[in-house]
Amino acid sequence: MPSPSNHADNSAAASTVIQVAVPVPLARAFDYDCASAPEIGARVKIPFGNRQLVGVCLGVAQQPDPQVKRKAVQQVIDPEAVFTPALWRLLHWASDYYQHPLGEVLHHALPVLLRQGEAANYQTTQGFRVTAQGASCELNELRRAPQQQRLLAALRKGVLLRRDISAQEFSAAALKALQDKQLIEVFTYQPVGDGEWAFAIGAEPLQLNPEQALAVAAIGAARKPQTYLLEGVTGSGKTEVYLQAMADVLRRGKQVLVMVPEIGLTPQTLRRFQQRFQVPIVMLHSALTDRERLDAWLDAKNGNAAIVIGTRSAVFTPFAKLGMIIVDEEHDNSLKQQDGFRYHARDLAVVRGQQEQVPVILGTATPALETLNNALQQRYVHLQLTQRAGQAKPARQTVLDIKNMPLKAGLSVTLIDRMRTELERGQQVLVFLNRRGYAPSLLCHECGWLAQCRRCDAYYTVHQRQHMLQCHHCGDQQRLPLQCHDCGSTQLVGRGVGTEQLEQTLAELFPDYPVLRIDRDSTRRKGSLQKHLTDATENKFPILVGTQMIAKGHHFPHVTLVALLDIDGALYSADFRAAERLGQLITQVAGRAGRGSQQGTVVLQTHHPEHDLLQDLVHNGYSAFARSLLQERKLTQLPPFGQLALFLAEAHDAQQALQALQMIAAQIPQHADLVVLGPMPAVMERRAGRYRYQLLLQCQQRGLRQQVLQHVLPKLEALAELRKVRWSLDVDPQDFS
Ligand code: ADP
Ligand code: ZN
Ligand code: ZN
Repeated sequence: MPSPSNHADNSAAASTVIQVAVPVPLARAFDYDCASAPEIGARVKIPFGNRQLVGVCLGVAQQPDPQVKRKAVQQVIDPEAVFTPALWRLLHWASDYYQHPLGEVLHHALPVLLRQGEAANYQTTQGFRVTAQGASCELNELRRAPQQQRLLAALRKGVLLRRDISAQEFSAAALKALQDKQLIEVFTYQPVGDGEWAFAIGAEPLQLNPEQALAVAAIGAARKPQTYLLEGVTGSGKTEVYLQAMADVLRRGKQVLVMVPEIGLTPQTLRRFQQRFQVPIVMLHSALTDRERLDAWLDAKNGNAAIVIGTRSAVFTPFAKLGMIIVDEEHDNSLKQQDGFRYHARDLAVVRGQQEQVPVILGTATPALETLNNALQQRYVHLQLTQRAGQAKPARQTVLDIKNMPLKAGLSVTLIDRMRTELERGQQVLVFLNRRGYAPSLLCHECGWLAQCRRCDAYYTVHQRQHMLQCHHCGDQQRLPLQCHDCGSTQLVGRGVGTEQLEQTLAELFPDYPVLRIDRDSTRRKGSLQKHLTDATENKFPILVGTQMIAKGHHFPHVTLVALLDIDGALYSADFRAAERLGQLITQVAGRAGRGSQQGTVVLQTHHPEHDLLQDLVHNGYSAFARSLLQERKLTQLPPFGQLALFLAEAHDAQQALQALQMIAAQIPQHADLVVLGPMPAVMERRAGRYRYQLLLQCQQRGLRQQVLQHVLPKLEALAELRKVRWSLDVDPQDFS
């Protein structure tokens, strides 16, 4: 693979043939004529079919076919590569590993504006400065126009941008008047930044406890770049370890990439970093405009940002001088891209660390089994924090048997009593239920009819407040029916409990204690999640109700009782990752208890108190629990001991989806170590009107899997049957639904 800094050679020829990676689902590159060869990694505008696309130059074509009539590049957009050499290598690696067309991978890695062909420059803006006349005139002459006087005085101190003018409340009229008098002039300002920033510590670092100190020292003392698993129980102060490990990197003028789960990317996180380091920090999150995102991307690429905090796609950020990568909550599922170019950002972060020769820290209280195994095999350095930081003690965990107990919206009387005690002591209580809406289904009390989504094999969720039925799989919505579709009865009732109903019941049970619900529905409005989290932290609501949104990393110092309702489903799930996920979820939610000075308690309500998984988790903790799950995975040859790849085909016609996978299966060579399962219907056989089938490859060696995929994939492009369906390949799949 040529590096992007090399010039694609052959400038002597009048016209060159270059290879272009095009964002289409085809693995090959395409040849184009070009007057003079652009740099490798620069973008070009090209005609493709009857469209115009933005592709990336891969270099000069070695043996262009003289017979073929080629089209010409319409425009070379970039004078140089838009990717850094290290990122270029990562993207090639990813295309290869995930068997995803390079053109789409490169496209995916760029900010939207660059995908559309925008120049890779900061936005220009209008700036204002004094003229020679304006610099020398008497300010006093403007005494009758105080607005103009104030503005001119300000401009004499330095240029102001359009946005500064409005932010500092100078009047537009004054601006115009000074321009008319030719005391000031407008110019086009293009920010560049010189990639220089001074390192300064803001708030003083905390005094580390011995385990934290050991971790920071280990990371700092490493002679060669390494991947670290920082396994620290909830509240053990992992963030403090990140901060102190980063300090050294920043001091040397290097940049740090911090990756966080989607929901962990909050202003609280930002504030913690800002308070510690007085350096430029940029956040890459979904609320940015395309322009803001490009500017942030440029800040990283030019070295103007010292710290970049972002979610999974941040792994594709170019850096001028990367010094460290931190992946917080490395077990979190939001790090996996589940459609299109399916990649795991944690795994790519580790690869990137090796390629850029920088340390990678994977932090979590509940490591993914893949990561834990890598640490146990000593591919990663295993750092452990077993104690909570500061004064906080570990929470007491109890399993509450609710067999035969009367339940109110899923709450047992025992739990209600415990909650009352806690609330009367002035403490905060958190009730976890991973189901939003009022009820997970709508039932006819007379005939048993259940309202089923028109387009999916799933029931509608009842959303009482909006009087709607909503499918949580395809988004389909309907008015809440008044009558049963089968028998016409009006006796329709919600079956099961969702957070909306739980909130209502809790408000009735505890009228003196306000309830706050945090889930996707209650946080739709911009800024509302933020506000809710702040209110929760400050104990403005003694009762918190939430879904997994509140499980992740948040610090609610007043919560002393955490209750988990309705976790039994996962105990008997067919998904081999269900136990691992349940262990992570329970541990993370439980970790919200007792983070302040008061000891916390966790109550797990279940109909299966004797279940081995629960017993193991509660008595031995996640760390031991995960090790026993690893033993099971070893016996069954499942990840991390087996390597999986999943083909999925979807079509409105079930036969077409099935046949597509049969054709794929027919291309797979026989091998003693390769198991092919399926085609078989997906767990949810119909979703959004499409029938879904799966074909699973399982083998022991990653190398064999890659060989097989490399053999199979190119053949699939030629199969006409596959064009009739939507199909995809997921390497290291996480989700089998
Ligand atoms: P984790 O991310 O491991 O769950 P945090 O980093 O959020 O834990 O830390 C939990 C709390 O402990 C925070 O309030 C933090 O300020 C505090 N803390 C961390 N390290 C120390 C320390 N060495 N001494 C005192 N308090 C600490
Ligand atoms: Zn009915
Ligand atoms: Zn649906």
